[in-house]
Amino acid sequence: MGAELHATELRKRLGLTEPPFLPQIAFAALDVVYKEASLDGCLGMTLRIAGNTAVMVSNNIPEEGKKLFTSAHELGHVVIPSHSKLSSFKCSSSDLIDSSRKPLEVEANQFAAEWLMPRDIFKSRCAKLEPDFESISGLAYDFNVSLTAAAMRLVELSDHEIMMIASEKGMMKYFKASHDFPYRLDWGKVPNTPARNSVVGKPFPNEFITVASDEWFKGSQPESGEVLEYSVKLGDYDTVLTMLWVE
Ligand SMILES: [Zn+2]
Repeated sequence: MGAELHATELRKRLGLTEPPFLPQIAFAALDVVYKEASLDGCLGMTLRIAGNTAVMVSNNIPEEGKKLFTSAHELGHVVIPSHSKLSSFKCSSSDLIDSSRKPLEVEANQFAAEWLMPRDIFKSRCAKLEPDFESISGLAYDFNVSLTAAAMRLVELSDHEIMMIASEKGMMKYFKASHDFPYRLDWGKVPNTPARNSVVGKPFPNEFITVASDEWFKGSQPESGEVLEYSVKLGDYDTVLTMLWVE
């Protein structure tokens, strides 16, 4: 059974149907001790001692959404049966991202995404929405996750042809495209579009703007030669999130 199925099964067993899906509800139901504490060199831990299980999450994570993702990730280590062969997990920030190379960490991340934003429930909510950042912040609020996490999940589950790119100081950091997205991102420096506004000190338009598709894609291009771009700056960080939408 995949990591997602364990999340779905537990959520159904606990009768949870409406977001937010707080991991603490599951910890209480499973008799797992949950504590937030100052942790050294990791963001979350799962410990199994003499038949008891404890989860610790760093009290030094500033965003609520990230803290929740970390505790949902630890819930994955608690619940996925094959993870019980290890008596402890110490999870650093590099374990808590999609690109982690450790299979058990990847599984815990898959579990966390499914626990916090269940496929069916999230998909039915985003089916009626355009992939703009007003919709995404509404989803982030309802599901109690970060804007980035909600945007990634939307890209994964949307029927639109969309791609999300995170960039920092004008350089692309990571991206995610919807299933079967037909165009290839021209990876590297952010093009001279609204996505660059934070670098050149201009305000963001807060809406979809039509830009030439070859600013973003290399190789084959949409027939119109255009793509819709919506870029926003993330809080206090130098990070820009860009949504590209080929209509
Ligand atoms: Zn972990």
